[in-house]
Amino acid sequence: MQLVHGIQDLRASLEQERSIGLVPTMGALHEGHGALIDRARSECGCVVVSLFVNPIQFDRGADFERYPRTLDTDAAFCERRNADFLFAPRAEEIYPRPQRTFVEVTTLSDHLCGRFRPGHFRGVATVVLKLFEIVRPHRAYFGEKDAQQVAVIRRMVADLNVAVEIIGVPTVREADGLALSSRNALLASEERKLAPYLYRSLRAASQCVEHGEINPAQVREAALAVLSGVPGMRVEYFEIVDADDLQPVERIAGPVTIAAAVWLGSTRLIDNLLVIPPQPQLQGFRC
Ligand code: AMP
Repeated sequence: MQLVHGIQDLRASLEQERSIGLVPTMGALHEGHGALIDRARSECGCVVVSLFVNPIQFDRGADFERYPRTLDTDAAFCERRNADFLFAPRAEEIYPRPQRTFVEVTTLSDHLCGRFRPGHFRGVATVVLKLFEIVRPHRAYFGEKDAQQVAVIRRMVADLNVAVEIIGVPTVREADGLALSSRNALLASEERKLAPYLYRSLRAASQCVEHGEINPAQVREAALAVLSGVPGMRVEYFEIVDADDLQPVERIAGPVTIAAAVWLGSTRLIDNLLVIPPQPQLQGFRC
């Protein structure tokens, strides 16, 4: 495993590679990232993990400052997972001059996280396109934990004719259901105990849909009831959206993504579940 900081060095090393898998990350690597790397390893001749805490996707400076940075352990992690390259550029390497060109995926970026984090997906799409140009991967791997991110990247690639296959990888969870996230390390021990309520609320909502509830407002109400008694938890959004275009639905008639963001103290957690409703003749149950 080679640790590379410079774009030119990486490009030179990848010149002869015919099957490159890219796993973009912001570091503080955990088993969720590990699942992406493993999948890339099983499908590609050369696996590049990128580690870049991208300043232009943070809407709050404090969040950028306190984001965990653990390059040495991340490099050891990539080595253990058999990645070929860890590309960890400095900010000046990616943004040597003020960035004047941005990628904006409209509509898809407007709801859910996009509504509360202005400019976030513009920053994500822009840096991911830059990484695609730097690495020229054949496949790129993204976690379904960040469902809106995968949808935005898929749409960017389709709209801009970028020659890369986007692979979504299922969410890796702790035994209590909490989705692995680099931000979990920022939770105080009391907050960590409460964090799995986010997943429990998503499960409550998905069970409603699986039992035939077609009214998103009812589903939302059942889920919010799970969260209402959790001390110190603030719900930022809890939405039921179409699984493909992530737009809110008035009636649940096909696959939906149930997505939520909550705050525990000063840490923001997101999670989602994809749910397929039962056949129409079974619908009509009220939860
Ligand atoms: P991050 O470092 O948080 O930007 O995440 C890098 C990639 O890992 C993104 O594609 C995430 O969706 C993915 N990822 C993060 N956490 C998980 C998880 N628990 N399960 C699966 N993928 C994840």
